[in-house]
Amino acid sequence: MSQINSAAIEALRSRLKNATIYTPDSEGYKKSLIRWSDTGTKYAGIVVQPVDAADISAALLWAQENSLDLAVKGGGHSTAGTSSSDGGLVIDLSRMNQVTVDVAKKIITAQGGATWKEVDEAGAVHGLAAVGGTVNHTGVGGLTLGGGYGWLSGQYGLTIDNLLSATVVLADGNIVTASATENTDLFWGLRGAGYNFGVVVDFTYQAYEQKDPVFSGILGYTPDKLEEIMDALNESLANPDARFGAMCIFALGPEGAEPMVLVLGFFNGSHEEGEEKFASFTALKPVLNTLDMIPYSMVNTLQNPQATYGDRKSFKGIFYEPPLDPKFARTIFNDFMAKIQAEEDLTNSAIILEFTDMRKICEVPLTATALASRNPTQNGIIYLRWTDPSRDLEHRAWARGIQAKWKVELDARTKHQGGESNVPQYINYAEPGDSVVNNIYGGNLERLQGIKAKYDPTNVFHKMQPIPMGASVDEKQ
Ligand SMILES: Cc1cc2nc3c(=O)[nH]c(=O)nc-3n(C[C@H](O)[C@H](O)[C@H](O)COP(=O)(O)OP(=O)(O)OC[C@H]3O[C@@H](n4cnc5c(N)ncnc54)[C@H](O)[C@@H]3O)c2cc1C
Repeated sequence: MSQINSAAIEALRSRLKNATIYTPDSEGYKKSLIRWSDTGTKYAGIVVQPVDAADISAALLWAQENSLDLAVKGGGHSTAGTSSSDGGLVIDLSRMNQVTVDVAKKIITAQGGATWKEVDEAGAVHGLAAVGGTVNHTGVGGLTLGGGYGWLSGQYGLTIDNLLSATVVLADGNIVTASATENTDLFWGLRGAGYNFGVVVDFTYQAYEQKDPVFSGILGYTPDKLEEIMDALNESLANPDARFGAMCIFALGPEGAEPMVLVLGFFNGSHEEGEEKFASFTALKPVLNTLDMIPYSMVNTLQNPQATYGDRKSFKGIFYEPPLDPKFARTIFNDFMAKIQAEEDLTNSAIILEFTDMRKICEVPLTATALASRNPTQNGIIYLRWTDPSRDLEHRAWARGIQAKWKVELDARTKHQGGESNVPQYINYAEPGDSVVNNIYGGNLERLQGIKAKYDPTNVFHKMQPIPMGASVDEKQ
């Protein structure tokens, strides 16, 4: 790591009014580098934790004057380190995590460094909920800027479909509002390619009444039930109910015991109706069944025990066209289990498949926001977790191998159905540089290039799925 010279640091100190600064020799510096995955930790030259937009603006201009690399940290969940910098400046928004609720208008505003926990809990106090992430410690920042799927997406669409406005500090230091009436081109780009244009100081979301609890919990099965579970999940999409959602998880049981198939279920309705909706799943005699009425905010804590901080992680998106072939799922399940059972250091890994009713999401025209992956394709994750840094490349290569199998399956399926092969895929599950996923911006690329050239012509914001431009801008990537 190169040192930033002390005169430059003193110049920054004199410009910042309220921010906290960490340099490699200061107490708290190491703690400020911690990310959800140890693979995301990098040794920044300086970390600035602002509490207001003015200090973000000052830090941004200072980084450019000193030709420093720049990273913005929201919730810190990037496994590829896109919210970290080797030797440069990190603008760490973790102190900007205030959430305010306008109860009358059902509107929630979250600062750019808040997590979904803060949003869920602030909304719950007033019987409101926003469309947010299903693991509540993820940041509102990254998740919103790349689209945002949550349990309420079947009913209300993506997080970006409920974004009303955002306050953004641009590369030139200006602080602007982006909304349907102000800086509309920026607002369009923020919704699906949003890490490319500036630092988002706050997000304002439409929220919805959610006074009643929801029917949700975990079902656990022995692996022999896999095909029947797939049939039930496929059926849920063939006869969709916007209030229903599910995730299927391939993982080892507690203490790395036997392979299991888990279903995390969600139904936004009564107990009675929920039981009906999950009847085909409970009929398969799960060995574990925690389905019950719980508060909406609690649903987004159910995966937390498996998604703890620490260790090295890789998070690779897989995308599939329903119905998912049970035979294909079986092959993946068997291969995955054989590997994670053979390698003790991988036992906490999992494959997570989402089953979301995409109708509401696909009602929004493809050209209405920058997100190019509005299509019936479902999303999933290959989640690897290990401790030995010397195995990073090997484990990632293995995950890419699994990812490639899903890609071949998807391409074959979409081609067979007469659709476009190589359909755009969900940006938030496609971290750059280490993925077989290659179509992110689809038909929205050209418009994005124009907006990038206008708002960030020197490519200050280039860490997460940088918009491919001409040579002069690409140089920094
Ligand atoms: C455990 C886990 C669960 C997840 N669950 C879901 C889910 O349910 N639904 C879903 O859609 N996705 C989900 N994701 C994917 C998630 O949306 C992305 O990983 C997202 O980028 C994380 O955002 P973050 O702010 O926590 O991460 P960070 O690492 O802080 O940021 C990710 C990127 O966004 C940029 N960024 C963050 N905040 C800002 C800001 N305020 N202004 C400008 N740039 C910013 C960063 O610079 C970085 O490039 C999950 C990921 C994990 C690891």
